[in-house]
Amino acid sequence: MSEVRESAQVSAVFSEIEDSFEQMRNWRRYMHEHPELSFEEVHTAKYIEEKLQSFGLEVTTGIGGNGLIGILKGEKPGKTIALRADFDALPIEDEKDVPYKSKNPGVMHACGHDGHTSALLGTASVLSRYRETINGTVKFVFQPAEEKPPGGAKFMIEEGILDDVDYVFGAHLASEIPLGQIGVGAGYQMAAVDKFEIHIKGRGGHGARPHESVDSLVVGTSVVEGLQKIVSRHVDPLKAAVVTIGVFQAGNAFNVIPDTARIEGTVRTFDGDVRNQVQKNINSIVEGITGAFHADYEIDYLRGYPALYNHEKETETVKEVLSDAFSEKNIIPLLPTMGAEDFSYFLENKPGTYFRVGSQNDDAATHYPHHHPKFDFDERALVNISKSFVKIVSYYLFD
Ligand code: MN
Repeated sequence: MSEVRESAQVSAVFSEIEDSFEQMRNWRRYMHEHPELSFEEVHTAKYIEEKLQSFGLEVTTGIGGNGLIGILKGEKPGKTIALRADFDALPIEDEKDVPYKSKNPGVMHACGHDGHTSALLGTASVLSRYRETINGTVKFVFQPAEEKPPGGAKFMIEEGILDDVDYVFGAHLASEIPLGQIGVGAGYQMAAVDKFEIHIKGRGGHGARPHESVDSLVVGTSVVEGLQKIVSRHVDPLKAAVVTIGVFQAGNAFNVIPDTARIEGTVRTFDGDVRNQVQKNINSIVEGITGAFHADYEIDYLRGYPALYNHEKETETVKEVLSDAFSEKNIIPLLPTMGAEDFSYFLENKPGTYFRVGSQNDDAATHYPHHHPKFDFDERALVNISKSFVKIVSYYLFD
């Protein structure tokens, strides 16, 4: 009996979400035209706030920067579910030829965060009309600054937004997944991302008299080579790690031995022990190689977002409820990537899962990878994100 009632309620909510499609699309297009960079999303935060107020939710703004929350208290007590969307844009020039192209030069919603936000607003708008059906509380979390470490998630969580939360869920659009399909998977899904800078101090001199110098460029190239062997020779082959060097700078004249060299790179790992180990390996390789050549060094190692871990039980639940809503064949396994995402902080604090919602159709305009200057998506994916959230909420909080 309760199953029949639940599905009747869910289908009523679903049809309201379908009716909200145009509204969600308009919100998305407005935000797309007015993108703002990480930590500068003042106007977007205000826009979201006004919408949440108009739905009659309890709204708190200025959380950990530009973050804000809309709270929907059901008529009866129960668990608290947090749903999260991010809303910052990227320093990219919008190269699309569409009416909703960015009006802010050099800034673009190239990752789909405008879509995440409008879909969560749509969810909040519709669910706010079903208060009597909800046992517990839904927290709609709008997070700024996902794209720029240290990120917005950390600061919002430090202000206690998850203290009374039982489960957290987040969704990301995916231009690599066809519209209608949703990627769900347990375990490590995205990497911890660290940044390092190595400064090598040799002793500059005349290009003709190398024996009187300490050639920081030659020492630096040995360091680069040494670092490339961390993954192949130090890391357990059954564990994942990336060491990429993106900057090598030394010298500026053909006949001068450079005094200093600078190396910058990134480390990506899933497992915390591997993360610690790679950091130690970098230290010992740099120390050993510079020591052998009588050069000095300095290492700045900055830890960024932790690895994103989808909890087994909640991921299984989401897989089941989404299979029910979208049919089993449309729920595909999520494949881990070495990319990063600060939703990982939410999942470090509370159980839940992060899933990816397909947004690619037959039009090549929807095939560009995220962060591409022509990135765009099939806006019908907004309905799918919203339905996914509703289905999850219904599992935990509906009668
Ligand atoms: Mn993103």
